Amino acid sequence: MIKISNLSKSFDGQNVLNGIDLEVKEGEVVAIIGPSGTGKSTFLRCINYLEQPDTGLISVDGLTVDAQSHQQKDVLALRRKLSFVFQNYSLFANLNAEQNIAEALITVWKQPKDKALAEARKILKDIGLADKTKHYPSQLSGGQQQRIGIGRAMATHSQAILFDEPTSALDPEWVGEVLELIKKLAERKQTLIIVTHEMAFAREVADRVVFMSDGTIVEQGSPEELFNQPKDPRTQQFISRIV
Ligand code: ADP
Ligand code: MG
Repeated sequence: MIKISNLSKSFDGQNVLNGIDLEVKEGEVVAIIGPSGTGKSTFLRCINYLEQPDTGLISVDGLTVDAQSHQQKDVLALRRKLSFVFQNYSLFANLNAEQNIAEALITVWKQPKDKALAEARKILKDIGLADKTKHYPSQLSGGQQQRIGIGRAMATHSQAILFDEPTSALDPEWVGEVLELIKKLAERKQTLIIVTHEMAFAREVADRVVFMSDGTIVEQGSPEELFNQPKDPRTQQFISRIV
């Protein structure tokens, strides 16, 4: 359902991504792991044009966007097919829980406000926060805020949800509830691409693990293959340090 080919990106003449190819099937859960500074966030951000790639084709569900010859309307259409969950939640501080979840439905999808808020409340119930509807981000724990960040991504019923280290800004006590929610989405066969340093989680939930280093995909395979029989020396070294 997602096909990325020859994706490249540089910052100030410095190559950060070097011609990345990746395909993701519908319902698949792909975990991206690798050392920091390797381009994982940049890659994820390029997939929905939060960063503009220098080269590459991105196809999602029949829509193809070419970095070198696209129209802005295609980028907007691409963004509507994908949702993004940020490391630091990025909730609107001046909106309460239901308004945060309804926001994109109202502004991007032009839904009537009542309908969007009703959908938001349905999602709050689904993610176990029905009692926090009117709470503002500052009144919620980090784990609750990130669950709302995920609820916001769920609201638009996009083709895939992209996560950039969704638990790395959380105090350890809140990590479990956020991973549980992502696991629930995986069990519902929602297509997910997750950059993570939670290796036990990647091993348990991912259908495929992708190891990135120095702006390239070095190796990919089932969790079993990647964690137990890594082939490339760089993967071996990374796995031996973290497991
Ligand atoms: P990772 O997520 O794997 O830690 P990043 O994608 O954040 O890696 O970063 C890869 C490289 O790109 C780093 O060297 C980082 O400094 C650089 N980089 C990322 N974003 C920018 C930016 N907006 N401007 C300049 N350099 C950037
Ligand atoms: Mg990163």
